[in-house]
Amino acid sequence: MTSTDRAVTSTDRARPRRRPTVTVDVGGVLVGGAHPVVVQSMTNTDTADTDATALQVARLWAAGSQLVRVTVNTDEAAAAVPEMLRKLRDLGCDVPVIGDFHYNGHKLLVDHPETARLLAKYRINPGNVGTRHHDANFQTIVRVAIDNDRPVRIGVNWGSLDQALLTELMEGNAALPEPADARDVMIEAMLQSALRSAELAEETGLRHDRIIVSAKVSNVRDLVDVYRLLATRCDYPLHLGLTEAGMGDRAIVASSAGLAILLAEGIGDTIRVSLTPDPGADRAKEVEVAQQILQAMGLRAFMPQVAACPGCGRTTSTFFQEMARDIQAHLKERMPAWKDRYPGVEELRVAVMGCVVNGPGESKHADIGISLPGAFEDPVAPVFVDGRLDRTLRGEGLVDEFIGILEAYVDRRYGPSGHGGEAIPADA
Ligand code: SF4
Repeated sequence: MTSTDRAVTSTDRARPRRRPTVTVDVGGVLVGGAHPVVVQSMTNTDTADTDATALQVARLWAAGSQLVRVTVNTDEAAAAVPEMLRKLRDLGCDVPVIGDFHYNGHKLLVDHPETARLLAKYRINPGNVGTRHHDANFQTIVRVAIDNDRPVRIGVNWGSLDQALLTELMEGNAALPEPADARDVMIEAMLQSALRSAELAEETGLRHDRIIVSAKVSNVRDLVDVYRLLATRCDYPLHLGLTEAGMGDRAIVASSAGLAILLAEGIGDTIRVSLTPDPGADRAKEVEVAQQILQAMGLRAFMPQVAACPGCGRTTSTFFQEMARDIQAHLKERMPAWKDRYPGVEELRVAVMGCVVNGPGESKHADIGISLPGAFEDPVAPVFVDGRLDRTLRGEGLVDEFIGILEAYVDRRYGPSGHGGEAIPADA
């Protein structure tokens, strides 16, 4: 068998065609264009607490967040940014840090020039820059960005939509012979808030490739409609995220559903999954979910994936679930060491299956798979490597034996003398 005989790998699968955009450099991380979709996240610490914030930023970065945003809401927070960044760099973390500004960003960025210089990007919400001096405040932030050669994200949120603009559009709509639906007007107001602000930023002197845009809502269908329209009206990179997604499974499912539709259409250049963590829970969960979305969409690979059947009446015990869990845990534990040593290993696909019905077939589609014996089957577990039966395991110690085969496979395929991401031809 040659490498072309086997099932397609994740690298072979068609990737969604990305919408063309300009590329924005955020502290060395390139967003947009043909660059991989960037994973980002945000802290929930008080930024004035430099220890807690530096530690949380470092944890998010260690989990895979390529950009991390922090709240800059008070003089104390703005003044603390340089010290927080020093502590962060002392932790060995060089992730670009973004400042999130609302209401007083024009003041804080002017009063704290060192903070303005050290932040990699400023997030401006056009609905939260004041009403009387809206444009002047917005332009003040833009001028600080120009002076520091920093990009901005114009981040509209329907929870803080520019009310003057919304009122203007609602009144104009009401005067029409056939007024549009209020939802459509709200969507149009979000788009116009983002795009008028981007236009004002460029008129003020900010370069076209220094602008990223987002327009977040908390409902999946609205999110899809807003971003589809936004994508047709500009070539700025788009930051995707379902805002106020909520907690637990609901938030993960809703974010995955919304982002997957858009990513499949090539829309989205950086994503954030906004999860409300349980008290004390790990903030890094949102990074893991963002990575899983991108990997499931075939856009990026971060971790070897384990395909496991759900199990049914044909599985005799919990052994199969435990094995699937143990293999997943083993891969997770090994990844920090594997990442540098075995380039491409993040694309590895492993199958752990419960019985003969789908076990051999699914295992053949994986790079390496095992089909456990179901009820009333011979107590043997065939192992498939690169689509071929490799050997048959039985008895106690089966999990350890399979892990040994897996380790050897990874070394052979992804190690210095291996074939990288390519399957190993039988005659190699
Ligand atoms: S592979 Fe076998 S054990 Fe797993 S769900 Fe299908 S029939 Fe059930």
